[in-house]
Formats: sequence, structure tokens, C-alpha cells
Amino acid sequence: MAQCSYHPDVETEMSCNECGKPICPREMVATPVGYKCPDCARPARSQYMYVKPRQLVLAILFGLGAAIAGAFILSLIWGFFIISIVYGMLVGEAVRRGAGGHRGPIMTGVGIGCVIIGGFIGGLGLIEIGLAALGVAGTLGWGWGR
Ligand SMILES: [Zn+2]
Ligand SMILES: [Zn+2]
Repeated sequence: MAQCSYHPDVETEMSCNECGKPICPREMVATPVGYKCPDCARPARSQYMYVKPRQLVLAILFGLGAAIAGAFILSLIWGFFIISIVYGMLVGEAVRRGAGGHRGPIMTGVGIGCVIIGGFIGGLGLIEIGLAALGVAGTLGWGWGR
């Protein structure tokens, strides 16, 4: 009998249907194509799901830079609410570039955080910041891997 890859003290006759490593009932996952280990059962991850720390830092730097610069420009033309959406889209684009093309909820969160901080520093109102957040979400998306 083999030892479970996850529990060295557990002997098992089962193995992952995909990678073949021994697994025991405690962690095995039933899938349509047989039992798998947790690693293989995990749904295929989108390339956009995993963001490297360096990309996250760059995304925040790019986003903050665009957000603060943009907020100052926007504050000069106060009253043009609709431009706030474009502002948010530009910040979202800056975040996406900083992150090497990553999109999705994490990047949207980063972008909205940048817009809130940038908008606050630049003296934007809540409505402008809210519209900018919509622009960010429109650019970076709420869902995974689009
Ligand atoms: Zn496996
Ligand atoms: Zn186990």
C-alpha cells in the first residue's frame, strides 16, 4: 500500500486519476472523470487569476500615478461629471498596463482604491469618484479571466 501524499501516516490504495499520486479519502475530490487530488481537481486557473507581487506593486504605482495626476486635471474642470468615467477608464488602463495585462476583480479593486486615493488627494467629490470607479470596473472587469 502506498502512503497518501498529503497524510504520510495514512496508507491508501487510491491514486489521483490525473497525476497518479496516492491520495486518501480525506482530501480526494470526486470529479466527472474520477477521483483527483486537490491540486488536479482545482479548476484550471485563468492566466489572469494569478498576479505576481511585482505586477501588483507596478499596478498600484501606475494606477496611483494616473489617479492623482488625473484627479488634479479633473479638479480644474470640476462639473464635468461624465469625464469622471473616462478618468476611471484611464486609471484602469494604467493599472492594467502596470500589471502586465492583468484584469479582473483584484485589479478592479486596486484601480478603485487608486481612484479613491487619487480623487481624495485631487479634491474630487464623491459623485466623481463613484463615476470613476464605474470606469475602472468597466475597463478591468468584475469577473475572472475575460
Ligand atoms: Zn493529481
Ligand atoms: Zn490524505
